[in-house]
Amino acid sequence: MNDAEEKPVDFVRKIVAEDIANNKNEGRVHTRFPPEPNGYLHLGHAKSICLNFGLAKENGGKCNLRFDDTNPEKEDNEFVESIREDVRWLGFEWDHEFFASDYFDQLYDWAVQLIKNGKAYVCDQTVEEVREYRGGWNKEGKNSPFRDRSVEENLDLFERMKNGEFGDGAKTLRAKIDMNADNMNLRDPAMYRIRHASHHRTGDKWCIYPNYDWAHGQSDSLEGVTHSVCTLEFENHRPLYDWYVEQLGIHHPQQIEFAKLVISHTMMSKRKLTELVQGGYVEGWDDPRMPTLSALRRRGVPAEALRSFCERVGITKFNSMTDLALLNLCIRDVLNKSTDRMMVVLDPIKVVIENYAEGESEIRNVVNNPEAEPKTTREMKFGREIYIERSDFMEDAPKKFFRLTVGGEVRLRFAYFLKCNDVIKDDSGQIVELRCTYDPETAGGKAPDGRKVKGTIHWVSAEEAIDAEVRLYDVLFENEDSSDVPEGVDWKDLINPNALQTVQAKIEKALIDAKPGEQFQFVRNGYFCVDSKDSQPGKPVFNRTVTLKDAWAKAKKK
Ligand code: ATP
Ligand code: MG
Repeated sequence: MNDAEEKPVDFVRKIVAEDIANNKNEGRVHTRFPPEPNGYLHLGHAKSICLNFGLAKENGGKCNLRFDDTNPEKEDNEFVESIREDVRWLGFEWDHEFFASDYFDQLYDWAVQLIKNGKAYVCDQTVEEVREYRGGWNKEGKNSPFRDRSVEENLDLFERMKNGEFGDGAKTLRAKIDMNADNMNLRDPAMYRIRHASHHRTGDKWCIYPNYDWAHGQSDSLEGVTHSVCTLEFENHRPLYDWYVEQLGIHHPQQIEFAKLVISHTMMSKRKLTELVQGGYVEGWDDPRMPTLSALRRRGVPAEALRSFCERVGITKFNSMTDLALLNLCIRDVLNKSTDRMMVVLDPIKVVIENYAEGESEIRNVVNNPEAEPKTTREMKFGREIYIERSDFMEDAPKKFFRLTVGGEVRLRFAYFLKCNDVIKDDSGQIVELRCTYDPETAGGKAPDGRKVKGTIHWVSAEEAIDAEVRLYDVLFENEDSSDVPEGVDWKDLINPNALQTVQAKIEKALIDAKPGEQFQFVRNGYFCVDSKDSQPGKPVFNRTVTLKDAWAKAKKK
């Protein structure tokens, strides 16, 4: 979308506009994107990135990249680096980069302050006891027997927790709020837990780690964040977010919650994506079947298409499922403008044109991209032997089959009318060759006698065509709601076994030097890009980014 066009105003943007109008935070807008470096970013994160960076950009504000690294066991530098790369690829640059672990000392000091103010205590209850004492919706909570420890005892125990005197899980530091609060998150939530684990940045300095709620708001506050945008499941954490900053008397960012991006046929839980990678169900985080940004990039999805998708999805307060067809539409919109149309036969069958002189050939000029200005052309050889798609021929065709049949006629794109006279089969009965004739009078795609053909098919010259591996991708989950797993079924059993099909195609000569990442439309077959990992010079491997139409969407409507 060009900048002059007006962007739709969603409820988050309305709140921000009001705050600016009221000079809240001196009219500043400062957001952050706070991923946990425990996996690769996926489509859902793209929505959050576009929103956070978008808010900053639209209002002359700032957006930080903050790694929310408070779970040492699961986090890693590999993820940190991939996140930086993905955010940049999506087209955004952060003003400052921070890690929650940058604040471990400050958070510790603030915890001490809360203890001194009688607002936090060290608790020895086990996980089970904590759960039991917390109560439930209609069930009163009970105070922990450790709730009334003296400030001195709490200070001593907390320091000893930090010094490593206790084992994992032996104690927690808890906020002293209200064991009968309606909001469960306010029933003395844990602030620190003991984990004797090495952290990817702080090493073995710490064996106590702050919980999400204790780390998040304080990190926002330290960075001067004004609007802390997060997903709806944190709505009932907001009172706790507010409580901490109020107790500490520090800058108070406003938490605003929006609905998560959920896409049909697409599973976006990092935990499950990790399982797919670690269990070898896919070839890695950037396997083009994955919904990660690195996979989509490798598959050929332009960053521009993702930004436009996020914009069209919009920001709401209500959970809903977005149709994958919308993403595909956005991808096609971008690629339609930018790609050259190439002729590639995915499942070739040979055609011998018997009335075309042996040893002769001719050059056909073909337009690269009808959407581009100025139009450029390239040359394709046409001769006696060509390949067409096996599916463009039927021996016993029904009436409505408008492609090639025995006795029937079809138009070859950029060439002549072609008529099939006979088929040659191998011993197993499989058709291996079509015997055809062409009409030399139809070079312009029309017959001088006015006779019509209904179908136009693509082809490549047998003399010039090159073999290439082409990977055809489909949805990884056939069920529309990938989180809807029937009782007793392992969600991994729902993986679509046909999500990847590899074929040996015949590509036209012009594609031989295609560079990794280059994108094309293969006419009638979809948009493709040269795989950046497995291609060799002179030996490109192609990934199908998206088909020209959604086959499964059509099937659904039937
Ligand atoms: P997951 O549930 O996939 O593990 P997460 O929320 O734990 O995701 P984080 O790394 O904590 O992953 O997320 C960073 C930011 O991205 C958070 O602000 C989070 O709200 C946002 N985010 C994550 N998933 C989505 C989604 N599906 N739609 C919109 N925003 C999302
Ligand atoms: Mg998270």
